[in-house]
Parts: sequence; C-alpha cells; structure tokens
Amino acid sequence: MSLRQVWRRNREEARLRRQLRATLRRAGIAEPTDMLEVCERLSAIWPVPIVAAPFDLPAHGPFGLTIRYAPEPREEAIYILYQRVATPLHQQHVVAHELGHVLGGHPLEPVGDLSEIDSNGSTGTLRRTSYTSRVEREAETIATVLLGRAAAQDGVTLPSSGAREHRLRRVLGDKVEWL
Ligand SMILES: [Zn+2]
Repeated sequence: MSLRQVWRRNREEARLRRQLRATLRRAGIAEPTDMLEVCERLSAIWPVPIVAAPFDLPAHGPFGLTIRYAPEPREEAIYILYQRVATPLHQQHVVAHELGHVLGGHPLEPVGDLSEIDSNGSTGTLRRTSYTSRVEREAETIATVLLGRAAAQDGVTLPSSGAREHRLRRVLGDKVEWL
C-alpha cells in the first residue's frame, strides 16, 4: 500500500469515526457499554428498532448476521443474530461488527422467514450480497470505536518529511477517543 493510500484510508476512517461519535452522543452512549445496551439505546434514535439476539447459526457459517425482518406486518426491525455458542467476548465483538454494518448504512437483507437460516450448515439464500472488503473494513472501524479500543493505526510511524508529515499527523492524530 502506498503512503497516499494509507493517508486516504485514514482520512476516510477519521471521517467515519467523527460521524459515529456524533451518533453515539445523540444516543446518549458516553462510555464503553455492553453491546446489547448499545443496540437498545441506538434503537431510540434509529428509524427502526435494532434488536440483537442469540441464535443457533450454522456451525461453519458466519458468527453474526444482520437482517431486516418483520415478525408481524409493520413491525419491521433490524435483527442482529449472533452465534449462541460463542464466548461472551466474541459475541460482543460480533454484535459490534454487525452494528458497524447498520451504522455504516450498508445494505441489509430483508428476510421473510427465519427458517431460511438452515442450521445444517448454510445460511441458505441469506448473504446473497456479500460485502466488499472496503465495507467490511468500515464495519470493523465502527466496531473498534464501539468497543472503545485503541485504533489499529495507533502504532503507525511515519517517515518525517515536513509539510506532508504534518498533514498526515493531523489526520492520523484523530485517533479513537471515547467521546
Ligand atoms: Zn461483516
């Protein structure tokens, strides 16, 4: 990756984190919080409720799945299904990542019937739209902020070269601060 690509990526991520911090402020989330509670609080400011629920996902499939689902007509919500048998820590990360897709405005699959998720090993017709690596990276950036972790680029050291370095530092200096 060229230095310019690094710079551009970091600028994008900084913008994303700024937007995210504003959203979290609106939702009244001021410190690292349990992801299920984050879902609950975000639901108050989101057009539809965001519900996270443990689910028996296929053993060899993804650990989390985000769908739009309406158990009753006009009761559509965003459901983040996370693997029931995963460790609590892993579940937190999975929900944070899936929230990244929601908050990132990534397209979510509408699902008619939860039995479409076949517990024998595939998610059936789900995840027809597989996300690009850029979208996955965005979800991870958001997850990182949600989990209140240090930014991945904290360890990046830059070659020194005057003005450009100054600019880069300005961008990279916008690290994850928990509000
Ligand atoms: Zn993902």
